[in-house]
Amino acid sequence: MRELIVELCRHFYTLGWCTGTGGGISIREGNQIFMAPSGVQKERILPEDIFVVDLAGNVLEAPANTRLKLTACSPLFLAAMNHRDAGAVIHSHSIEAAVATKLWPEGFRITEVEMIKGLRGYGYYDTVHVPVIPNTAHECDLADSMTEAILANPHSDAVMVENHGIYVWGRDWQQAKTQAECLDYLFRYAVRMHQVGL
Ligand code: ZN
Repeated sequence: MRELIVELCRHFYTLGWCTGTGGGISIREGNQIFMAPSGVQKERILPEDIFVVDLAGNVLEAPANTRLKLTACSPLFLAAMNHRDAGAVIHSHSIEAAVATKLWPEGFRITEVEMIKGLRGYGYYDTVHVPVIPNTAHECDLADSMTEAILANPHSDAVMVENHGIYVWGRDWQQAKTQAECLDYLFRYAVRMHQVGL
């Protein structure tokens, strides 16, 4: 699991989802949740740098390197796991996601694009809706509004954060990754369509 987080962080870095130490991924295995540390170069973390916490956020295993701190995203990852039984949560600082929150601050909506079919419960003719919450100065302060958005939008496996990015989850890391990729495609598609005036 530690190796998988390292590999996925490196991959998401190449996509521009976790540059500048932002973003990340958390994967749950039973009551053990694996998370990368806070404020580190996500493409350079090592398996031994990973924290393990429980669903209440208690640290079960901390890295030997005591300079490493648990990610500030921890309460947000746990919100999706506790309220939606998510097996994995991806946090992306994708530029398209951030721009989409400015273009559609009331929530992102799109229909009739092939990649919609990669999202849980959606067909080609359905309208995808992803809620947008306001950003806060500190990531941990997003926990309450993100929990509210999760509970108010049971059809959505994602919450966007204004001028910041997105949290996407799934029953396991594969579904979380698929949904994060499909949503990022849809943001790129919508932003491009907006740019060309369609
Ligand atoms: Zn963030």
